[in-house]
Amino acid sequence: MNPFADRPYAASRFARIVAIARGTNPFYARWIEDPDHVPILDRRTYCENNDEILNGHAVNDRTSGSTGVPVRVAVSPDLARARGRDTARFVGWLGGVLPVVRLIYSGHSRPAENTLDIGAPIDEQIDFILMRHRLAGAVAVTTYPTNAELLVRRAHERGVDLGFIRRVGLYGESVEPHHISQIRSIFPSATVWSTYSSVEFGMIAARCPFEPQYHHVMAHRLGVELLDDRGAPVGRGERGRVVITDYLNTLSPFIRYELGDYADAGSCPCGRISLPSIGEVYGKVRGALLHRDGRRVVFADLSVRLRDIPEMRQYQVVQHDIEWFTVRVVSPARIDEEVRSAFAVHFGYVPERVNIEYVDEIPRGPGGKFHASICEA
Ligand SMILES: [Zn+2]
Repeated sequence: MNPFADRPYAASRFARIVAIARGTNPFYARWIEDPDHVPILDRRTYCENNDEILNGHAVNDRTSGSTGVPVRVAVSPDLARARGRDTARFVGWLGGVLPVVRLIYSGHSRPAENTLDIGAPIDEQIDFILMRHRLAGAVAVTTYPTNAELLVRRAHERGVDLGFIRRVGLYGESVEPHHISQIRSIFPSATVWSTYSSVEFGMIAARCPFEPQYHHVMAHRLGVELLDDRGAPVGRGERGRVVITDYLNTLSPFIRYELGDYADAGSCPCGRISLPSIGEVYGKVRGALLHRDGRRVVFADLSVRLRDIPEMRQYQVVQHDIEWFTVRVVSPARIDEEVRSAFAVHFGYVPERVNIEYVDEIPRGPGGKFHASICEA
């Protein structure tokens, strides 16, 4: 049965991508025996068959791997444009483009002039915002929720007036209600936006600017299902596993792919955005660690270094106190030295105790959130 049987548009798009994938992709030709019974594809199975799914297409992106084995993805120019249109439409909901400062992981390339790498100390980030406001009229900030929290706390301590900020954008990890209330306390006149995105799908949903406990789904491009443990759709208000089909990705198809996140079923009452909606989303929590010099450091840069260890399949870093860490890893080989050297590069030192635990799987926390790092210090 088509999982979208009661939604004609979704049902026809789903049937179409299933037919294309079965006809062009060696993995899907085998995986989907019966187009009326398409199995759910978990991340582990996807990764085990990643080369066959890519089917010779160049890799454009890969996931961070903290929530599981890194997934490699091919994105056609058409798909990239479709995602770009969604972003533009979302910016329209917010009221158009504003001069922005980005505080994000900038990779190994030189960041754009309005971008500061997330590894910069918080004071430097605050000074950067002030400087970009002076030079370029910046009145918006985009960053990770964990970093936004550090930023507002420090701005408050320093007594810096950031009242000129009119928009704060949060993405890249789960947004908690306390993130939004803290940001509102420092930026009282700012609109806070956030999106639910992944490397596999780009923007999946955007928080409703009018009813912030709901997210509107990019349903023209993606089929989103919320399923219980038996694979049946959950009822309104219930929490379900997020399973997504990308109607447009023909180079590395994702059909009934289980992201590993959870979300509440729900229907936004705003009446202003015609896209269907879901409620709150429970995904990855990046977190922050404590440096020997007293700084809180967002777990982004170290995360990428750990991800890039070739044998790494999954990881989680727990900091018990300043000098004591437990690193849980899923890896077929011993990678103690590589893990230590990631710490050395990231912190500038290897903490006194780094216990490395080899496990089969790293479970999610209560409520379905995956904590990439946990700081008890
Ligand atoms: Zn809405």
